[in-house]
Amino acid sequence: MRPQVIIIGRPNVGKSTLFNRLVGKKLALVDDQPGVTRDRRFGDASLLGLEFTIVDTAGWEDEDPSSLPGRMRMQTEASLEGADVALFVIDARAGITPLDEEIGRYLRGHDIPVILLANKAEGRAGDHGLFEAFSLGFGDPVGVSAEHGEGLGDLFEALLPHFAEQEAEDEEEATDEEAEYDPKAVLKLAIVGRPNAGKSTLINRFLGEDRLLTGPEAGITRDSIAIDWNWTDPKDGEERPIRLIDTAGMRKKAQVVDKLEKLSVADARRAIDFAEVVVLLLDATRGLEHQDLKIASMVLEEGRALLIAINKWDVAEDASGLFNGVRQALDDGLAQVRGVPLVAVSARTGKGLDTLLSAAFTLRDAWSKRVPTAALNRWFDDALAANPPPAPGGRRIKLRYITQAKTRPPSFVMFGTRLDQLPESYRRYLVNGIRRSLGFDAVPIRLTLRSPT
Ligand code: GDP
Ligand code: GDP
Repeated sequence: MRPQVIIIGRPNVGKSTLFNRLVGKKLALVDDQPGVTRDRRFGDASLLGLEFTIVDTAGWEDEDPSSLPGRMRMQTEASLEGADVALFVIDARAGITPLDEEIGRYLRGHDIPVILLANKAEGRAGDHGLFEAFSLGFGDPVGVSAEHGEGLGDLFEALLPHFAEQEAEDEEEATDEEAEYDPKAVLKLAIVGRPNAGKSTLINRFLGEDRLLTGPEAGITRDSIAIDWNWTDPKDGEERPIRLIDTAGMRKKAQVVDKLEKLSVADARRAIDFAEVVVLLLDATRGLEHQDLKIASMVLEEGRALLIAINKWDVAEDASGLFNGVRQALDDGLAQVRGVPLVAVSARTGKGLDTLLSAAFTLRDAWSKRVPTAALNRWFDDALAANPPPAPGGRRIKLRYITQAKTRPPSFVMFGTRLDQLPESYRRYLVNGIRRSLGFDAVPIRLTLRSPT
């Protein structure tokens, strides 16, 4: 069910113009003469992604502002009955009239949320009426210009809280379409890393058997091996299914090393295609090398969740120095994400492997997470208030609202004006805020900017 929004106001304040603006078609008749709209009209409205039914009432179309004919009033009454929110429109240029006040009293007698719209507020011509409109007692009026399409972002923001229920329903539908995320589903995990980082040893360790051959088997070349197994989570004893993708497969031992360097990048690329979470395995005896950063960047660029494991921890020298050094090098070297999870492991002894797998599941949850638009915009408002966007050339960049378009990876669309001038640093501020405040941790996040038309 689409929410119903009803437009109420005395004649000539711009109800039909607003109706047309929200429906996007010339459905209602607009005229300078009061009382042109003779009946209720319904339209499918859409405002910056909010979908609702809009009702334009004729309830107050009356020559004599002091009397309200019963027939008209009944019609409005019926419309109010089915509506979720009322948009009470006044003319900001004309100021408050006795009929506006009467409509205000009437609306207060009904159990319906009211958003006060001061229309014709383009330029500064409506400032006076905007100020007066406070006296109607419906809180802050929202200044709009139905004719010029101004203030619609503010209207959106005012409507948003009333759409929370619709939001929840949409949520269910959206996840249906998206094939609902099941945290217990098979985790598609890839292990990538430079030759000799210990990938085969790690996989053998996981499986508890020598399933991967480690000898120099010339001629055995496979692009990838997928192995299904169950990991027993020590936290709750649950069996968690994992599909492991080993892209290097059995090939590596048969190849010469410098060729392998290139191949490991190609392998990583293939792994990325398969995997939800990619583990980049480093060699503690070598630290973080350029090639590793390249693979890490690629994984994030492709929108996969990334985990980094420092292997051979059993033979690491200056363990804490190494760990901190790698942490620092990652944060410096990866532009996309700070704080990628870093785990010390030993494929030989088994140290850290449960921690690694547990982190992989947690990371997939974050990667698959969806935040409802209302909650997202509550965070957004706070983030903008705490650190307003800059005003290049003295004109402030307006950021209107944000919505999560997709999961896996989490992808957001932000609407506003003059977005082409938004500095990269501010964009990073928002992306990091989403990550920290909304629980996306260190998964790659996409943010697209869009100006509403
Ligand atoms: P209604 O009787 O409340 O449905 O009002 P209409 O939509 O028919 O508009 C009445 C008059 O106000 C028309 O001449 C519109 O062009 C004009 N109007 C509507 N919105 C605006 C606006 O935002 N600014 C200005 N300046 N005029 C507007
Ligand atoms: P891959 O090329 O990434 O598959 O690496 P391998 O699994 O073939 O391992 C390369 C070398 O590192 C082998 O000699 C392994 O025994 C050794 N190795 C792997 N994991 C560990 C570990 O955790 N500790 C130590 N000390 N050696 C390891």
